[in-house]
Amino acid sequence: MKHNGFEFDNYFKNYPDEKGFFGKYGGAYVSDELKKAMEETTEAYYTICKSSKFIAELRKIRRDFQGRPTPISYLERLSSSIGNVQLYVKREDLNHSGAHKLNHCMGEALLAKYMGKKKIIAETGAGQHGVALATAAAYFGLECDIYMGSVDIKKQAPNVARMKILGANVVEVTHGLATLKEAVDAAFDAYTKNYKDILYCIGSVLGPHPFPLMVRDFQSVIGVEAREQFINMTGELPDAVVACVGGGSNAMGIFSGFLNDPVDIYGVEPLGRGTALGDHAASLQYGTEGIMHGFNSIMLKDENGEPAPVYSVASGLDYPSSGPEHAFLHELGRVKYDVINDEETIDAFFTLSRMEGIIPAIESAHAVAYGMKLAKKMGHGSILINLSGRGDKDMDYIIEKYGIR
Ligand SMILES: *Cc1c(COP(=O)(O)O)cnc(C)c1O
Repeated sequence: MKHNGFEFDNYFKNYPDEKGFFGKYGGAYVSDELKKAMEETTEAYYTICKSSKFIAELRKIRRDFQGRPTPISYLERLSSSIGNVQLYVKREDLNHSGAHKLNHCMGEALLAKYMGKKKIIAETGAGQHGVALATAAAYFGLECDIYMGSVDIKKQAPNVARMKILGANVVEVTHGLATLKEAVDAAFDAYTKNYKDILYCIGSVLGPHPFPLMVRDFQSVIGVEAREQFINMTGELPDAVVACVGGGSNAMGIFSGFLNDPVDIYGVEPLGRGTALGDHAASLQYGTEGIMHGFNSIMLKDENGEPAPVYSVASGLDYPSSGPEHAFLHELGRVKYDVINDEETIDAFFTLSRMEGIIPAIESAHAVAYGMKLAKKMGHGSILINLSGRGDKDMDYIIEKYGIR
């Protein structure tokens, strides 16, 4: 169907195009050496991942190891406390390892196995992607190197311990600011040197083609399940779908199920402490077009045009750009991108915990906060929120910074 005059009937066939573009966004802006690796991966993706053998094996893994399908829960007490809008959550917090990230990590690691790679590598900031990939590596018996800045290694001790327990090798990156950006650079370097034996597994719908496509497709299991479950539960489609956007993988996962439906879609970016550069990570809201980490998208830049420092209470959302497909859907007006600040997030974190017995990840609490706000505005109808992960990882931080509310 058409939205704003744009036809979505063949959307997934047409986007991205064969060069990896969603309109002007996306592509593969990498060195000649890495280009070869990306072409090999693209070729493998189209042949292996579309084969019935791969699809059947991944489906079995999703059911027997990940515990899918994850349910949709109706938030009865929260809904009636707000008014006449019915709120629902898709429970990615119940996916094995506690968040949606394992959906693409299992897909990427299975592809690595089919390609005959010995090792999978990735960058990680807060450690969530590192833990999910280390889980997948252990499952498939692959070696796993996780590149992580020394600043993040100090901050994220429990996740570093998890990765090590799972058998991954945590590679400390000490140059520059020693955080996520440097970790990405170091992982790309290692990959360039030895891509014959390695598959680089990017942690969101980011990076050069084919990663935004591949990660979206692996995450689309969320949207496929959610659409069917929601119709079975209520007899109709939701009026609105909401998800938080860091790089944008959980959001693309659930959005992909509803793009061609008469459903309003909302992506929620972190406004952090406020609108000043450095106080938030709302790249689609305040950024401009630019290329980083191998793809063209909308990004937050400093005065030199470099990726700007970003901040959010949710460490999984503090990336200075978003996936190219989000930039495209933003431009088309198909998805409305809006913001939620730290304070609203923490309120929603405690409200969902107290009223529904679900402790959300702080990232996911952004989507919950927006869903609650939207419910007040809509007055009637239904909203499906993607609960991207559980809050166990955030306990210490919440108690230390906010106490018990
Ligand atoms: C990593 C993470 C996110 C942000 O990543 P996206 O690619 O934007 O989905 C959101 N929620 C949770 C629980 C995460 O761990």
